[in-house]
Amino acid sequence: MEKEIIILGAGPAGMTAALFAAQAGARVTLVERNAQVGRKLLVTGSGRANLSNHGVAPERYFSTSQAEPWLAAVFAQFGPTDLVQWLRTLGLLTYSTADGWVYPLSNSAQSVVQAFASALERAGVEVLLEHRLLSIRNIKDGFELGFEGQSSLRCRKLLIAAGGKAYPTLGSQGDVFPLLQKLGHALVPLVPALGPVACDMRAYQKLQGIRLDAQATLLDHEQVLAQTRGNLIFTQWGLNGPAVMDLSHRVARHAGGGLELRLNFLLDHET
Ligand SMILES: Cc1cc2nc3c(=O)[nH]c(=O)nc-3n(C[C@H](O)[C@H](O)[C@H](O)COP(=O)(O)OP(=O)(O)OC[C@H]3O[C@@H](n4cnc5c(N)ncnc54)[C@H](O)[C@@H]3O)c2cc1C
Repeated sequence: MEKEIIILGAGPAGMTAALFAAQAGARVTLVERNAQVGRKLLVTGSGRANLSNHGVAPERYFSTSQAEPWLAAVFAQFGPTDLVQWLRTLGLLTYSTADGWVYPLSNSAQSVVQAFASALERAGVEVLLEHRLLSIRNIKDGFELGFEGQSSLRCRKLLIAAGGKAYPTLGSQGDVFPLLQKLGHALVPLVPALGPVACDMRAYQKLQGIRLDAQATLLDHEQVLAQTRGNLIFTQWGLNGPAVMDLSHRVARHAGGGLELRLNFLLDHET
Protein backbone atom coordinates (compact mmCIF):
# COMPACT_ATOMS: atom_id res chain seq x y z
CA MET A 1 0.00 0.00 0.00
CA GLU A 2 1.24 3.47 -0.78
CA LYS A 3 1.81 5.79 2.17
CA GLU A 4 1.41 9.55 1.94
CA ILE A 5 4.40 10.56 4.09
CA ILE A 6 6.96 8.24 5.62
CA ILE A 7 9.20 9.65 8.31
CA LEU A 8 12.22 7.49 9.01
CA GLY A 9 13.53 7.53 12.57
CA ALA A 10 11.49 7.85 15.78
CA GLY A 11 13.91 10.04 17.68
CA PRO A 12 12.93 13.52 18.89
CA ALA A 13 13.33 14.95 15.36
CA GLY A 14 11.21 12.30 13.61
CA MET A 15 8.52 12.22 16.30
CA THR A 16 8.22 16.03 16.29
CA ALA A 17 8.00 16.12 12.49
CA ALA A 18 5.37 13.34 12.57
CA LEU A 19 3.25 15.23 15.09
CA PHE A 20 3.40 18.54 13.20
CA ALA A 21 2.57 16.83 9.88
CA ALA A 22 -0.31 14.85 11.40
CA GLN A 23 -1.68 17.94 13.15
CA ALA A 24 -1.62 19.69 9.75
CA GLY A 25 -3.84 16.92 8.38
CA ALA A 26 -1.31 14.60 6.69
CA ARG A 27 -1.47 10.79 6.82
CA VAL A 28 1.86 9.96 8.46
CA THR A 29 3.77 6.69 8.90
CA LEU A 30 6.71 6.79 11.30
CA VAL A 31 9.23 3.97 10.74
CA GLU A 32 11.83 2.94 13.31
CA ARG A 33 14.38 0.10 13.54
CA ASN A 34 14.17 -0.22 17.35
CA ALA A 35 11.38 -1.99 19.20
CA GLN A 36 10.35 1.31 20.82
CA VAL A 37 10.27 5.02 19.97
CA GLY A 38 12.71 7.53 21.47
CA ARG A 39 15.39 5.03 22.52
CA LYS A 40 18.20 7.61 22.60
CA LEU A 41 15.96 10.23 24.16
CA LEU A 42 15.62 7.84 27.12
CA VAL A 43 19.30 8.22 28.08
CA THR A 44 19.60 11.97 27.54
CA GLY A 45 20.66 14.22 30.39
CA SER A 46 21.62 11.09 32.38
CA GLY A 47 17.98 9.92 32.24
CA ARG A 48 16.67 13.37 33.17
CA ALA A 49 16.36 14.77 29.59
CA ASN A 50 17.75 18.28 29.26
CA LEU A 51 15.11 19.51 26.78
CA SER A 52 16.42 22.94 25.80
CA ASN A 53 18.22 26.03 27.01
CA HIS A 54 16.92 29.60 27.07
CA GLY A 55 20.44 30.79 26.20
CA VAL A 56 20.22 29.22 22.74
CA ALA A 57 21.63 31.69 20.18
CA PRO A 58 23.06 31.36 16.64
CA GLU A 59 26.51 32.62 17.69
CA ARG A 60 26.79 29.76 20.19
CA TYR A 61 26.83 27.19 17.38
CA PHE A 62 29.98 26.07 15.62
CA SER A 63 29.70 25.46 11.89
CA THR A 64 31.97 25.35 8.88
CA SER A 65 29.33 27.22 6.87
CA GLN A 66 27.87 30.63 7.64
CA ALA A 67 25.44 29.25 10.21
CA GLU A 68 24.24 32.43 11.82
CA PRO A 69 21.77 33.91 9.30
CA TRP A 70 19.78 30.72 8.79
CA LEU A 71 20.01 29.65 12.43
CA ALA A 72 18.62 33.04 13.46
CA ALA A 73 15.72 32.47 11.06
CA VAL A 74 15.12 28.99 12.52
CA PHE A 75 15.12 30.24 16.12
CA ALA A 76 12.85 33.15 15.21
CA GLN A 77 10.33 30.61 13.87
CA PHE A 78 10.63 28.08 16.70
CA GLY A 79 12.81 28.97 19.68
CA PRO A 80 13.12 27.51 23.19
CA THR A 81 9.99 29.32 24.43
CA ASP A 82 7.96 27.93 21.50
CA LEU A 83 9.31 24.45 22.30
CA VAL A 84 8.30 24.71 25.97
CA GLN A 85 4.80 25.88 24.98
CA TRP A 86 4.43 23.11 22.41
CA LEU A 87 5.61 20.44 24.89
CA ARG A 88 2.90 21.70 27.26
CA THR A 89 0.29 20.88 24.58
CA LEU A 90 1.61 17.28 24.71
CA GLY A 91 1.02 17.30 28.47
CA LEU A 92 4.69 17.71 29.24
CA LEU A 93 5.34 20.33 31.91
CA THR A 94 8.85 21.74 32.25
CA TYR A 95 10.93 23.93 34.55
CA SER A 96 14.04 26.03 33.90
CA THR A 97 17.11 26.35 36.10
CA ALA A 98 18.49 29.81 36.99
CA ASP A 99 21.08 29.48 34.22
CA GLY A 100 18.45 28.61 31.56
CA TRP A 101 18.50 24.80 31.28
CA VAL A 102 15.04 23.31 30.60
CA TYR A 103 14.04 19.96 32.14
CA PRO A 104 10.77 18.02 32.42
CA LEU A 105 8.98 18.68 35.71
CA SER A 106 9.17 14.91 36.31
CA ASN A 107 12.99 14.97 35.89
CA SER A 108 12.46 11.80 33.86
CA ALA A 109 13.36 11.15 30.22
CA GLN A 110 11.01 8.15 30.41
CA SER A 111 8.05 10.49 30.93
CA VAL A 112 9.16 12.56 27.90
CA VAL A 113 9.19 9.44 25.71
CA GLN A 114 5.78 8.40 27.08
CA ALA A 115 4.34 11.86 26.33
CA PHE A 116 5.59 11.63 22.72
CA ALA A 117 4.32 8.04 22.30
CA SER A 118 0.82 8.99 23.57
CA ALA A 119 0.75 12.12 21.39
CA LEU A 120 1.62 10.04 18.31
CA GLU A 121 -1.25 7.68 19.11
CA ARG A 122 -3.71 10.54 19.68
CA ALA A 123 -2.63 12.22 16.42
CA GLY A 124 -3.28 8.98 14.49
CA VAL A 125 0.34 8.50 13.37
CA GLU A 126 0.98 4.94 12.18
CA VAL A 127 4.15 3.71 13.94
CA LEU A 128 6.04 0.77 12.43
CA LEU A 129 8.71 -0.55 14.80
CA GLU A 130 11.51 -3.07 14.10
CA HIS A 131 11.80 -1.82 10.51
CA ARG A 132 15.45 -1.29 9.62
CA LEU A 133 15.80 0.64 6.37
CA LEU A 134 18.24 -0.96 3.91
CA SER A 135 17.47 0.77 0.62
CA ILE A 136 15.73 3.78 -0.93
CA ARG A 137 14.69 3.73 -4.57
CA ASN A 138 13.30 6.63 -6.57
CA ILE A 139 10.06 5.59 -8.27
CA LYS A 140 7.48 7.55 -10.24
CA ASP A 141 5.87 10.10 -7.84
CA GLY A 142 7.76 8.90 -4.79
CA PHE A 143 10.04 6.38 -3.16
CA GLU A 144 10.24 2.66 -2.48
CA LEU A 145 11.88 1.65 0.78
CA GLY A 146 13.42 -1.76 1.44
CA PHE A 147 13.67 -3.14 4.99
CA GLU A 148 15.49 -6.00 6.72
CA GLY A 149 13.10 -8.97 6.92
CA GLN A 150 9.99 -6.83 6.23
CA SER A 151 7.95 -6.01 3.12
CA SER A 152 8.96 -2.92 1.21
CA LEU A 153 6.92 0.28 1.50
CA ARG A 154 6.08 2.97 -1.03
CA CYS A 155 5.43 6.60 -0.22
CA ARG A 156 4.90 9.89 -1.97
CA LYS A 157 7.00 11.97 0.44
CA LEU A 158 9.93 10.80 2.54
CA LEU A 159 11.51 12.58 5.48
CA ILE A 160 14.73 11.17 6.88
CA ALA A 161 15.35 11.81 10.59
CA ALA A 162 17.75 8.94 11.25
CA GLY A 163 20.13 10.80 13.58
CA GLY A 164 23.92 10.90 13.50
CA LYS A 165 26.43 8.29 14.64
CA ALA A 166 26.69 8.94 18.39
CA TYR A 167 25.98 5.96 20.69
CA PRO A 168 25.26 3.54 17.78
CA THR A 169 23.84 0.76 19.99
CA LEU A 170 20.79 2.99 20.52
CA GLY A 171 19.87 2.86 16.83
CA SER A 172 21.44 5.62 14.73
CA GLN A 173 24.54 4.07 13.20
CA GLY A 174 25.07 6.25 10.14
CA ASP A 175 23.91 3.49 7.77
CA VAL A 176 21.39 5.83 6.12
CA PHE A 177 24.06 8.32 4.95
CA PRO A 178 25.31 6.15 2.02
CA LEU A 179 21.69 5.58 0.94
CA LEU A 180 21.19 9.36 0.75
CA GLN A 181 24.47 9.78 -1.15
CA LYS A 182 23.22 7.26 -3.70
CA LEU A 183 20.18 9.51 -4.23
CA GLY A 184 22.54 12.39 -5.02
CA HIS A 185 22.71 14.16 -1.65
CA ALA A 186 26.05 15.59 -0.50
CA LEU A 187 27.46 14.38 2.82
CA VAL A 188 29.57 16.76 4.91
CA PRO A 189 32.42 15.04 6.84
CA LEU A 190 31.17 13.63 10.14
CA VAL A 191 32.96 15.00 13.21
CA PRO A 192 32.37 13.84 16.80
CA ALA A 193 31.13 16.62 19.09
CA LEU A 194 29.82 17.08 22.62
CA GLY A 195 31.79 14.09 23.84
CA PRO A 196 34.46 13.31 26.43
CA VAL A 197 38.11 14.01 25.53
CA ALA A 198 40.73 11.25 25.70
CA CYS A 199 43.98 12.55 27.26
CA ASP A 200 47.25 11.20 28.60
CA MET A 201 46.17 10.67 32.22
CA ARG A 202 49.23 8.83 33.57
CA ALA A 203 50.12 11.62 36.02
CA TYR A 204 46.52 12.03 37.21
CA GLN A 205 45.39 8.48 38.09
CA LYS A 206 44.72 9.44 41.73
CA LEU A 207 42.16 12.03 40.59
CA GLN A 208 39.88 9.42 38.96
CA GLY A 209 36.20 10.06 39.77
CA ILE A 210 36.78 13.60 41.07
CA ARG A 211 34.45 16.36 39.79
CA LEU A 212 35.43 20.02 39.88
CA ASP A 213 34.42 23.29 38.24
CA ALA A 214 37.22 24.55 36.02
CA GLN A 215 38.16 26.76 33.14
CA ALA A 216 39.50 24.64 30.27
CA THR A 217 41.70 26.17 27.58
CA LEU A 218 42.57 24.18 24.46
CA LEU A 219 45.87 25.16 22.79
CA ASP A 220 47.70 24.21 19.64
CA HIS A 221 51.35 25.29 20.10
CA GLU A 222 50.37 28.19 22.40
CA GLN A 223 47.58 29.29 20.07
CA VAL A 224 44.27 29.30 21.97
CA LEU A 225 41.66 27.30 20.01
CA ALA A 226 38.82 27.41 22.55
CA GLN A 227 38.07 28.22 26.16
CA THR A 228 35.18 26.99 28.28
CA ARG A 229 34.09 26.93 31.87
CA GLY A 230 32.05 24.25 33.65
CA ASN A 231 32.06 20.96 35.47
CA LEU A 232 34.94 18.57 34.79
CA ILE A 233 35.24 14.87 35.66
CA PHE A 234 38.53 12.95 35.79
CA THR A 235 38.35 9.40 34.40
CA GLN A 236 40.89 6.65 33.76
CA TRP A 237 41.18 7.51 30.06
CA GLY A 238 40.60 11.24 29.95
CA LEU A 239 38.26 14.05 30.92
CA ASN A 240 34.47 14.25 30.82
CA GLY A 241 31.81 16.80 31.73
CA PRO A 242 30.51 20.03 30.14
CA ALA A 243 33.86 21.88 30.41
CA VAL A 244 35.52 19.53 27.89
CA MET A 245 32.39 18.43 26.00
CA ASP A 246 31.89 22.02 24.85
CA LEU A 247 35.32 22.07 23.20
CA SER A 248 35.50 18.43 22.06
CA HIS A 249 34.51 19.37 18.47
CA ARG A 250 37.71 21.45 18.28
CA VAL A 251 39.75 18.43 19.42
CA ALA A 252 38.01 16.20 16.86
CA ARG A 253 38.99 18.55 14.03
CA HIS A 254 42.65 18.17 14.97
CA ALA A 255 43.00 14.46 14.24
CA GLY A 256 46.40 13.16 15.31
CA GLY A 257 46.55 14.95 18.68
CA GLY A 258 49.43 17.14 19.81
CA LEU A 259 47.01 19.53 21.51
CA GLU A 260 47.38 20.85 25.05
CA LEU A 261 44.56 21.36 27.56
CA ARG A 262 45.19 23.82 30.41
CA LEU A 263 42.91 23.63 33.42
CA ASN A 264 42.38 26.42 35.94
CA PHE A 265 40.60 25.33 39.13
CA LEU A 266 41.11 28.63 40.94
CA LEU A 267 39.28 30.99 38.60
CA ASP A 268 36.67 31.87 41.25
CA HIS A 269 39.42 32.61 43.79
CA GLU A 270 41.61 34.88 41.66
CA THR A 271 41.67 38.57 42.54
C1 LIG B 1 24.40 9.92 26.20
C2 LIG B 1 23.71 11.06 25.49
C3 LIG B 1 23.12 12.07 26.26
C4 LIG B 1 22.49 13.15 25.62
N1 LIG B 1 21.89 14.10 26.38
C5 LIG B 1 21.23 15.13 25.79
C6 LIG B 1 20.51 16.11 26.55
O1 LIG B 1 20.43 16.02 27.79
N2 LIG B 1 19.89 17.11 25.88
C7 LIG B 1 19.91 17.20 24.50
O2 LIG B 1 19.31 18.14 23.94
N3 LIG B 1 20.56 16.27 23.76
C8 LIG B 1 21.20 15.25 24.36
N4 LIG B 1 21.84 14.30 23.60
C9 LIG B 1 21.78 14.44 22.13
C10 LIG B 1 20.41 13.93 21.65
O3 LIG B 1 20.19 12.63 22.11
C11 LIG B 1 20.38 13.96 20.13
O4 LIG B 1 20.67 15.27 19.68
C12 LIG B 1 18.98 13.56 19.64
O5 LIG B 1 18.64 12.25 20.05
C13 LIG B 1 18.94 13.65 18.12
O6 LIG B 1 17.64 13.36 17.73
P1 LIG B 1 17.32 12.71 16.31
O7 LIG B 1 15.87 12.45 16.30
O8 LIG B 1 17.94 13.57 15.27
O9 LIG B 1 18.17 11.36 16.28
P2 LIG B 1 18.05 10.02 17.16
O10 LIG B 1 17.55 10.30 18.53
O11 LIG B 1 19.36 9.30 17.01
O12 LIG B 1 16.91 9.21 16.41
C14 LIG B 1 17.11 8.67 15.14
C15 LIG B 1 16.28 7.40 15.04
O13 LIG B 1 16.42 6.87 13.72
C16 LIG B 1 16.48 5.47 13.82
N5 LIG B 1 17.22 4.91 12.66
C17 LIG B 1 18.49 5.17 12.29
N6 LIG B 1 18.84 4.45 11.22
C18 LIG B 1 17.75 3.72 10.90
C19 LIG B 1 17.50 2.76 9.87
N7 LIG B 1 18.43 2.40 9.00
N8 LIG B 1 16.27 2.20 9.83
C20 LIG B 1 15.30 2.56 10.72
N9 LIG B 1 15.49 3.43 11.72
C21 LIG B 1 16.71 4.01 11.80
C22 LIG B 1 17.26 5.21 15.10
O14 LIG B 1 17.02 3.91 15.62
C23 LIG B 1 16.76 6.32 16.00
O15 LIG B 1 15.70 5.92 16.84
C24 LIG B 1 22.47 13.21 24.21
C25 LIG B 1 23.06 12.19 23.45
C26 LIG B 1 23.66 11.13 24.08
C27 LIG B 1 24.27 10.02 23.24
